[in-house]
Amino acid sequence: MRAKTMDGREIEMQQLTLDSLKMRLKGQVVVQGDAGYDESRTVWNAMIDRMPAIIVRCLGIADVIACVQFALEHQLLLCIKGGGHNIAGLATADGALMLDMSLMRGVWVDKHRKIAHAQAGCLLGDLDRETQLHGLATVLGFISMTGIAGLTLGGGFGYLTRRWGWTTDNVVGMDVVTAEARLVRATSEENPELFWGLRGGGGNFGVVTGIDYTLHPVGPEVVGGIVAWPASEAPAVLKLYRTLAEEAPPELTLVTFMRPAPPAPWLPKDMHGKPIVAIIACYSGNPGEGEQAVAVIKSFGTPIGDILVRRPYSQLQSLLDGTQPKGRRYYWKSEYLAGIEPEFCEKFMAHSAKICSPHSSMILFQIGGALNRLNDEHSPVGNRNARYVLNIGGAWEQASDDTANIAWARNAWDDLRMFSTGGTYINFLTQEEGPDRIKAALGNNISRLAEIKAKWDPQNLFRTNRNIMPA
Ligand SMILES: Cc1cc2nc3c(=O)[nH]c(=O)nc-3n(C[C@H](O)[C@H](O)[C@H](O)COP(=O)(O)OP(=O)(O)OC[C@H]3O[C@@H](n4cnc5c(N)ncnc54)[C@H](O)[C@@H]3O)c2cc1C
Repeated sequence: MRAKTMDGREIEMQQLTLDSLKMRLKGQVVVQGDAGYDESRTVWNAMIDRMPAIIVRCLGIADVIACVQFALEHQLLLCIKGGGHNIAGLATADGALMLDMSLMRGVWVDKHRKIAHAQAGCLLGDLDRETQLHGLATVLGFISMTGIAGLTLGGGFGYLTRRWGWTTDNVVGMDVVTAEARLVRATSEENPELFWGLRGGGGNFGVVTGIDYTLHPVGPEVVGGIVAWPASEAPAVLKLYRTLAEEAPPELTLVTFMRPAPPAPWLPKDMHGKPIVAIIACYSGNPGEGEQAVAVIKSFGTPIGDILVRRPYSQLQSLLDGTQPKGRRYYWKSEYLAGIEPEFCEKFMAHSAKICSPHSSMILFQIGGALNRLNDEHSPVGNRNARYVLNIGGAWEQASDDTANIAWARNAWDDLRMFSTGGTYINFLTQEEGPDRIKAALGNNISRLAEIKAKWDPQNLFRTNRNIMPA
């Protein structure tokens, strides 16, 4: 079998060598031709089609250590797959040794200390499911099948960001297997510089095997969901969105999007495929107050669908899952905004009207709030001036439609990026976005990250990520 080394050479891997790896593991080794190889090697974005040489389905920290040791002995290229949701396909690499973390999905909740410990293979839904048993939650994203590891290591935002900041602001500790195959703890007291770097610096410093999150009282019932209108009402709806978002208390998070209507049962059949505008709301405080806060949205204009109701928080957290299935082709362009100007809304509508796939959308996520209260140096995720995330989200089925959809997203971005803070979300960068975009995402924190990299991974073993070169 052929495998790749860290410096890009191809080497022959003997069966005996592979057997020696198997003997050190509790988890399964999977290679091309084995059942499950394709399931493990594929990621959310079907534009990414890579073939790792060896996949290890880790069953614990000892397996992770054994894999890192093996990679060091043979100088193998290493990649780590959490939820496999990274749009650039950073979880997988041709010829690599892949650590598939998807079987490490345990969650332990200490309801008295309000801390959850989650294994690094957890998806967002795994964590919400366990913490919600106690009416608790931490800040996670909008799609429950996303991996906690990639999301947290790159920052993380969702419906609770405005109350408690980036996901990574809510991390109190991580267990990490280093480039020397040592298990270490990273907290504000133990290895504090490593801990700083992990909160936005991605998987550059080791394999994270577990994450401890601070929890907050949320739900179990919140007011959340979607109201949709025909796109002809977009000028008024976007104006309403702007006003409400500017005045919203931290408990209320508002998202707006424009797209062709999906064939959802709550939207009239004759509207399916036609352009719509919608507002997604989550009021995570008292549900009675939430109903009052969203009443103005529900009674606005002539909605074609309204599923903005009291519901379990965990249900809201998976409400959008069906819109983002694994296996479509995806291409995004993204920027942070400090506010929404009327001219931005005009352009947002104009480019939405040019969408050329039934699955694509233009989305504006409201963030800000608690996130804005810390300074850029607090952690590498930075971007403390961001109040909205613009995502121009191309999604389609056939490779033959790649050119048209990518061109649509790029054109829209070219026209809209003038409204950016200059910053962008590292976790939304596509595979062709390089060092200048990483710099836009991490800002001046890059040089400190490079120092940490030099200390913890001087050989750059952990390189299939948004790579920080050792100083
Ligand atoms: C449909 C969709 C919705 C999204 N919604 C949101 C959202 O609401 N909010 C938000 O903040 N982000 C969101 N994202 C972006 C998301 O945060 C990133 O895609 C993130 O990389 C996903 O994490 P993952 O574990 O699934 O990634 P993977 O693709 O598995 O990995 C991404 C990177 O993290 C590294 N990594 C993974 N696990 C480990 C580990 N254990 N130790 C060290 N490194 C590791 C990988 O090596 C790789 O470099 C969304 C993405 C998608 C596709």
